[in-house]
Amino acid sequence: MAKATTTIKQVLNYGPDHAAWFAENAALYNRVCAFYFDVIQAHVKVLDLSHKEALTALEKLTHTTQSNPTPVMPLSEIGEDLPALFRRAAIHAALGSARSFHSHLQKWQKRKEKALAKGKKFHERPPVPPRTWNKSATLYAGMWKERGSSSIVLKVWTGTCWSWVKVRITGRELPTDAELGSPQLIRKGHQWWVHTPIEKQFKSPGKIEKQVTTNAPTKICAVDLNINENIAVCTIQTVEGSILATTFIGGGREIAGFRKKQLGRIARNRRKTGMIAPGEQDNVDLWNKIRHGDEQVAHLISARIVQFAQTHEATILVFEHLGNLRPERGKYSKRSNEKRAYWMKGRIFKDAKYKAYNEGILTSRVNPRNTSRECARCRSLVARYEEGKEAQGYTYGAPLVSCPECGMRGNADRNASLVIGHRLVLRYQKSVQGKPLAPLHAERVSRDTGVEVCQDAESVGPRPSTGNARHADFNEHGTAQDMSLEMEKHILDIACQLRFSF
Ligand SMILES: [Zn+2]
Repeated sequence: MAKATTTIKQVLNYGPDHAAWFAENAALYNRVCAFYFDVIQAHVKVLDLSHKEALTALEKLTHTTQSNPTPVMPLSEIGEDLPALFRRAAIHAALGSARSFHSHLQKWQKRKEKALAKGKKFHERPPVPPRTWNKSATLYAGMWKERGSSSIVLKVWTGTCWSWVKVRITGRELPTDAELGSPQLIRKGHQWWVHTPIEKQFKSPGKIEKQVTTNAPTKICAVDLNINENIAVCTIQTVEGSILATTFIGGGREIAGFRKKQLGRIARNRRKTGMIAPGEQDNVDLWNKIRHGDEQVAHLISARIVQFAQTHEATILVFEHLGNLRPERGKYSKRSNEKRAYWMKGRIFKDAKYKAYNEGILTSRVNPRNTSRECARCRSLVARYEEGKEAQGYTYGAPLVSCPECGMRGNADRNASLVIGHRLVLRYQKSVQGKPLAPLHAERVSRDTGVEVCQDAESVGPRPSTGNARHADFNEHGTAQDMSLEMEKHILDIACQLRFSF
């Protein structure tokens, strides 16, 4: 069995005085966290212990009981009669922060030693412990009760006493088949929320390697991400090479236009003020607006990718690694726009990965080298060109490709996506390297020239990476392909328009 974790976020409805109580509760929680962080700093050895042993040790150092009447650093200085589970939640939070801080510190020390040993100067500043604490209180069992679909009772510090408060909750309902984690009381702006992590168990999808090597009908959804209009181009192909469906997910122009407008505003504002204060973010609202736009698009596109994979029962999602960003020369706003588009690609991958995992689909990435220059059918280098131009040379970003070797013609992004999918199969199936490569759909053969792709293997010219002879049997999968052609046509007909609301 495999596990997937998500967070259910629910808004709380409460009276005006309750908001002040929640704030008091959070403030106390953070004081206790800070206190325990200091205790750990004074007894760093605690970090060598397991989480459970550390908890016991820290309680012994701080908690007054009959058998432990005079602890070294009494917690009673922060507050009397803290509920045990409130204290423990804070200890766990403090331990987490302390472990993170010390591991950063150790890495910094290692870098320093290394630099000094080489006789280099070392200017990097050491990490510092947190100066302020802004953690959200985790409510362990015992700090909440009577949880229903529309209300929950929470135990909170009101500033003067501990009190049980009943609050109404709205938002997504908790699924019944999932395991609930400890909820957190979270403030967003002026609103308080309850976030509940949930764990869902599902039948674990087999490892990608196993799926690819042992099950020929395994379907792979390959995704090519772009910064042009078609943000994502996805194709479904089986391990054996049949191409079943393609979809173009658009919206690139719209988000680029939206960014351009905001970046223009930022540029104008900067010209007006004349200078930018160092270390200070200018035009915060506009930058946030851009970020929200990008996040929204990434969210929608990734959901569509996973939906497409699910519709076609793909069990593997594959992307290419994001190469280094090569910003083109040009105006500030153009360069910034591309930078954001690049960032958004990373975000789409991240979002798609976890959304896919929640549906039992695994995600992988392949080497991005030449994915858009290779022919998906015969691996030769393709010509990439603009519509209406001659099919030769390589015009970066042009929409069409043509293969001088096998005659394949088609959409450049779709070709790239097929190459990406095939690369994943190749990684695991070394022995299949010489096997037939699925022909690109004949419908994609250029209509304007009327040139047919010659599917007769014998007449296809020599190719560098795949043997001619082996290519001859690529019609083995003929039946599957015939069927797939119909399906593909159908899918391509569906316009894939996403609606954004920036
Ligand atoms: Zn080719």
